[in-house]
Amino acid sequence: MTRRFALMIDPAAADDSRSDFADTFTLVDAAAPALSVGELSTQRGDGVFESIGVVDGHAQEVVPHLERLAHSAQLCDLPIPHQTQWRQAVERAAAHCEEGEYVIKLILSRGVEHGPTPTAWVTAAPASDFSTVREQGIRVVTLDRGYDLDIAERAPWLLLGAKTLSYAVNMAALREAHRRGADDAIFLSRDGFVLEAPTASLILRVGDRFVTPEPNGGILHGTTQLSVYEHLAGRGFAVEYGRIPASDLPRADAAWLVSSVRLAAAITAVDGADLPVDRALTAELNEYLLSPRD
Ligand code: PLP
Repeated sequence: MTRRFALMIDPAAADDSRSDFADTFTLVDAAAPALSVGELSTQRGDGVFESIGVVDGHAQEVVPHLERLAHSAQLCDLPIPHQTQWRQAVERAAAHCEEGEYVIKLILSRGVEHGPTPTAWVTAAPASDFSTVREQGIRVVTLDRGYDLDIAERAPWLLLGAKTLSYAVNMAALREAHRRGADDAIFLSRDGFVLEAPTASLILRVGDRFVTPEPNGGILHGTTQLSVYEHLAGRGFAVEYGRIPASDLPRADAAWLVSSVRLAAAITAVDGADLPVDRALTAELNEYLLSPRD
């Protein structure tokens, strides 16, 4: 049976001192319409969100996701989500997830046009099956993101470090990658540095060193990348952030796209040229990412 779940949240102020927020939640039918036609999330993509992986009922890395939701809200001038309230909403959603992999989504929208408050909700649904991608890897193409590496500092209104609901560009990049015969894309800055994928972070291995693009505002700081780095550092590997020229990508000893639900997918080819694949490490990373993580 497909178990879908949806909970509307009446957002509490960040300084609300209650410890139990049960009466701010309204369970709704996940298959029935729930949003107003004036909703600014649907009209303009004006809101922020998070996708949390759930494995056998355990929601992974909830605190890092809630912290990033708060960071995104701050960048978008949205009210800062109350951490305890949202954690309790995630717990309610996780309690509905059965064995296997699920995804919990948290959405905080600007609200209804001319309305007084933001709209917020949480959903849970079975995750897509990513076992083939985890085992066989993915081919990527590089795509121009159209701005320089330092744009986030110069133009904060582009909201580049925020996980906003405006993913039309990211989805268009994925379609372009498919048109070019690849599975996914890696964005490059206009000045020639690697950034991230439309829905994932990039990690390269160069010898025994791992490197990922600096999350200095131009890209999202991935919770999965942070978790993978913790694991690799625990294994004694050097893990680094850096400005990575696009020319380093096809020369890497291995590379992965990592994200909360797909987990670690080895990159098998970049722009049609094969890349070495570290199958043992990929399997190890996915085993780790599937284990309960807080
Ligand atoms: N970068 C972008 C643009 C994303 O959309 C995502 C996830 O959706 C990520 C990176 C990876 O983030 P996380 O590992 O927290 O899922």
